[in-house]
Amino acid sequence: MSFTVHGLAVSRGIAIGRAVIVASSRMDVAHYFVKADQVDAEILRLRHARNAVIEEIERVQGSLGELGSNDAHPELSALLDVHLMLLQDEQLTSGVKHWITHRHYNAEWALTTQLEVIARQFDEMEDPYLRERKADLEQVVERMLRYMRGVASPVAAPAPAGAAGKGETLFDPTVDVPLVLIAHDLSPADMLQFKQSVFAGFVTDVGGKTSHTAIVARSMDIPAVVGARSASHLINQDDWVIIDGDAGVVVVDPSPILLAEYGFKQRQGEVERERLSRLKNTPAVTLDGQKIELLANIEQPEDAVGALKAGAVGVGLFRTEFLFMGRNGQLPDEEEQFSAYRRAVEGMQGLPVTVRTVDVGADKPLDRSPVRAGEDHLNPALGLRAIRWSLADPAMFLAQLRAILRAAAFGPINLLVPMLAHASEIRQTLALVDKARAQLDARGQVHGPVRLGAMIEVPAAALTIPLFLRYFDFLSIGTNDLIQYTLAIDRADEAVSHLYDPVHPAVLHLLASTISQCRAQGKGVSVCGEMAGDVTMTRLLLGLGLRSFSMHPSQILAVKQQILRCDTTKLATWAQTVLAAEDPAALMAD
Ligand code: PEP
Ligand code: MG
Repeated sequence: MSFTVHGLAVSRGIAIGRAVIVASSRMDVAHYFVKADQVDAEILRLRHARNAVIEEIERVQGSLGELGSNDAHPELSALLDVHLMLLQDEQLTSGVKHWITHRHYNAEWALTTQLEVIARQFDEMEDPYLRERKADLEQVVERMLRYMRGVASPVAAPAPAGAAGKGETLFDPTVDVPLVLIAHDLSPADMLQFKQSVFAGFVTDVGGKTSHTAIVARSMDIPAVVGARSASHLINQDDWVIIDGDAGVVVVDPSPILLAEYGFKQRQGEVERERLSRLKNTPAVTLDGQKIELLANIEQPEDAVGALKAGAVGVGLFRTEFLFMGRNGQLPDEEEQFSAYRRAVEGMQGLPVTVRTVDVGADKPLDRSPVRAGEDHLNPALGLRAIRWSLADPAMFLAQLRAILRAAAFGPINLLVPMLAHASEIRQTLALVDKARAQLDARGQVHGPVRLGAMIEVPAAALTIPLFLRYFDFLSIGTNDLIQYTLAIDRADEAVSHLYDPVHPAVLHLLASTISQCRAQGKGVSVCGEMAGDVTMTRLLLGLGLRSFSMHPSQILAVKQQILRCDTTKLATWAQTVLAAEDPAALMAD
């Protein structure tokens, strides 16, 4: 039966495909397709894993018997019997075979998919004893996965999901069923893997519009809905699903009429993109002749390709923290970072690249487990995040600064510092930049000049702009955090997402005054939060005097289209009325 689930629209477009439900804990399981002639070998790989686990359990049972302890541990022995029974269960074996044979999933993916199917059935059982057997099933599957991790795949590189090289197509056209991922949650680190995986869209139960998971989805330009509450429970494995990333709606098991309607919308979207692509080489100039700078936000050096393709005139924000995530605490060293920044700079072919120093913490934990033991009462958004994290570990920060300064010898770099609020933080940061440069000189290593910039994303910073202008060459307004901290709304929490208001008068005043103070002093100012790529905000930002916007490459052409239709002199007058209004949102459509 068809039904809809509502969430937050975070990344535009329509995706139609079959649901793949993935538990948060199994996001790192490899997801790739095997070729038709590899199906038998993949089934064999699975059988080997199952047999190995059966042998392992039988060995344990045997040793209990030898010790004469079978009677002493009747519960343990019974548990092992249950595990053996589950491993031989027909529903597990035949289900997994089905996913490999008919969908060409790799063995690990097929196994976890079938686990989700059976786990649902356990969840629905009345008998609490039977319901609890779900944990046993999870344990045996985990054992099989562990075994498979230790054995090389004979049929395909068992790369972790998304670890395949860019450009390598993981989607097997012989199977030709688009897949959409449904998960309770996805961390920004998961999203990085997701970037190169097989999915055409995704839905999560949790998350806000400017959560980093949503931001990465936008950068990938795939339809996504977050904050869809219980979607991962309501949707079943393999259900047909439509993701409407424009409306924030997920249609499950759609009727043929709905499928046709959304198929039509999908094609319309493609036509619209095609039309916009013609603007790529058109200069972004308003009707009254104001030149507007359109820059790209990137997460990885390779994203520079997409930035150039979209017609960006530089990178306004390189979120370097994505180089630090999902590495089990093994941070990238100076050489690895230098190579990444150099690739980004060279990729931009002489256009400037704004490299932001690492911003981990809050909803960007280094690894998937965000909360450390005993710290679940703390609010990470107000904790050791961004520049605070960097200043707490000067050796790590100096390595990053040296890597950036060295890359600056290969092309123009702006060095941007996130979340500054205090004069003391500014002074410490700049002293460390000087120290990094001195260290490179002492080593006799080549480095280049950088322009220094600060992000304005804490109200305390927005209220002390003269201080920032004294020390920095340019400012970049991070509206995602500026809104979060001004309105006391966690940007990742869907429960308060209705209060996350980019045009709240307080936010607009901080924006307007930051822009006008920078302009008055002839200093560069740009917006690099999600607001810059939101076409419904373009007129207002232009009216407030903004001339530099940094956004996901996928948004650049749509924003340019808006700019080409605008007259900034008229917008300046209108923006003043919006600024003075009690309810600015009501005037936005004027
Ligand atoms: C912002 O806060 O607006 C910003 C661009 O930084 P991030 O989204 O990475 O926190
Ligand atoms: Mg920020």
